[in-house]
Formats: sequence, structure tokens, C-alpha cells
Amino acid sequence: MNKLMAVAVVAFVASAFAPPGASADRQDKHPGYDDTPQLPNQPWKVHDSKRPDPAVVKPGDEPGKAPSDAVVLFDGTDLSKWNGAWKIENGAIEANRKGDLTSKDEFGDCQLHLEWCAPAPTKGKDQGRGNSGVFLMGRYEVQVLDSFENVTYADGSAASVYGQHPPLVNACRKPGEWQSYDILFTAPRFKEGKLERPGALTVLHNGAVVHNHVEILGQTAHRAVAKYEPHGPKGPIKLQDHGDPVRYRNIWVRAIKGYDEK
Ligand code: MG
Repeated sequence: MNKLMAVAVVAFVASAFAPPGASADRQDKHPGYDDTPQLPNQPWKVHDSKRPDPAVVKPGDEPGKAPSDAVVLFDGTDLSKWNGAWKIENGAIEANRKGDLTSKDEFGDCQLHLEWCAPAPTKGKDQGRGNSGVFLMGRYEVQVLDSFENVTYADGSAASVYGQHPPLVNACRKPGEWQSYDILFTAPRFKEGKLERPGALTVLHNGAVVHNHVEILGQTAHRAVAKYEPHGPKGPIKLQDHGDPVRYRNIWVRAIKGYDEK
């Protein structure tokens, strides 16, 4: 095909896929409409041509890898983004009874991806097997536990919102196998020292939805009903050292524009 023919084919294909009503004079400006109805509670019309385009984000090189706008908290090499002293080995960090690991950066509403691995061979049972945890804002725990053929109280099993909500299903892999959490966190809002709106969590464990925007009842507690204590709009990600050598890798976070941010 020569160059002229190629241009003609592209023009033909473009016209074939133009939306109904699109005319030649529209093609120089941003696609969309100006004569459509107003959307409720939004400053935009349906298909508004003036509505800003979404920011372009380059996805990770393969599924599970960080998109271009993520803050990478651990890429397998160092702990420069953290306060704490966990062991680094073979591209993973490992709890080593030296206390929790806390991110230096703080986040409000966010998307968090991480991968974790419970120790094998197994040791202990119930809450004593592969226990760790992911705390949003340093306060709200999504439980990490080896829940593969390991019975414990439901609201303390792997991927539970600890002490509040059991996961919808037990999607745990065997100990020694890498597992993923994808967490969408909506931070609680406080106004004048009082709770204005509770926080919420959506969690996928190994790709299975285990929480669908469940309400967080308050700061994680053991053998007590969780209560909120007012705090600021951001807080760190904390990984719990519960005494078991649980490992983590590929940890990244993306801030999400909050429902109350325009
Ligand atoms: Mg825990």
C-alpha cells in the first residue's frame, strides 16, 4: 500500500467510527457535546466536551507491578522508605522480632498493593501461625495470618478487618506461597474532634474480593469493641511484627483523590 492509499484508509476508518452527530467542524476540537443535559450534582453535562481528560498513567510492566504514579515502598532492595529494622533477603523483607515497620510517607485515601508469605514449614496454630498485619494510617488492621487449614476466630483470620469483619471467603494460599492483598482504603473524616464519617475498606485477597467497602468501626482493638480516636488526614502504613517470620515484597501505594476533594 502506498502512502496516499494508507492515508485514505485511515480517514475512512476514522469516519466509520465517528459518533453519530459528529460533523467535520467538530473534528478539530475535543470530542464531546455541548448541547446535552446537565449531570446531577456535577458541574458537567453528559459527554461534556470541556470535561478534563483523565491523567495518563503507565501501568506496571506486568500484572501486580506498580503503575507510574505509585509510591513504591519496597521494591526488593532497601528499607529507605521505612522506619524499622526488618531483615532483607532474596528481594523480600521479613519480620524478625525487632518491632513493627512503619512507612516514612503518610497517606489518606489510598490504594495499597503488597505481597506476603507465611513461614513454611508451619509452626503454631490459631493466632500463633504466620501472624502479622497491615495497618492503614498505623491504626486500622487488615490481618495477615496463615489461614490455610488453620482455624481461628473468624474476625481474626487472614484478610479480616481484625476484630470487626471476617473476610467474605478464605482465599488463603498454602504457607510458603506468595499471596497478594489489594486494598482500597477510605480514611475516616473528623470534624472539630468528632467523627464526621467512618472509614471504609475494600480488599482483594489473591484476586478474590473479601471486603466490599465495609465500614471501619474504629481503631483496631483486641478483645474490645473498636473505637475511633480523632486523628489527622494522613498516617503511615504499618506492618506488624507479631513474632512470626512473615515476609513481604512488592509494596506500593497510590493516593486516591478523596470523595471530599474536588
Ligand atoms: Mg495481626
